[in-house]
Amino acid sequence: MSAYFSFKKFITTGFIMVIYILGVIAVTIVSILLMLNTGTNILGTSGIGVILGILLLIFGNLFWRVLCEYLVVQFRIFTELVEINKTLKGGPAAPSAQMASNALAGPPVCPTCGGPLTYVQQYQRWYCEKERKYA
Ligand SMILES: [Zn+2]
Repeated sequence: MSAYFSFKKFITTGFIMVIYILGVIAVTIVSILLMLNTGTNILGTSGIGVILGILLLIFGNLFWRVLCEYLVVQFRIFTELVEINKTLKGGPAAPSAQMASNALAGPPVCPTCGGPLTYVQQYQRWYCEKERKYA
């Protein structure tokens, strides 16, 4: 289980890093294209394109960086919670479902006389005290 989570952790942080690098490349390319576009475009004159390109290069990358760091932090919190949960579960053993159902059913009774049965560990069988035989 621990190996599974460390593997998952590796995959996710690595994945976010790849996404981050791809995002930086995309933002940079778009910024350069805006700056290089000297002709008239949807935005109007070329001067605006240069300004927008510079703004996108600075703030686009900054925003993208913050977003990716946020994702990494969120995932670290999740990983920490998994660790805490694992530690808590490793504490005092909780009664098993089998023990709970046995407690609800009460001590077993003899199928022939209805008297209480005693479990003999040595033979791993139920013994009837009344009839002096194994059930
Ligand atoms: Zn009996």
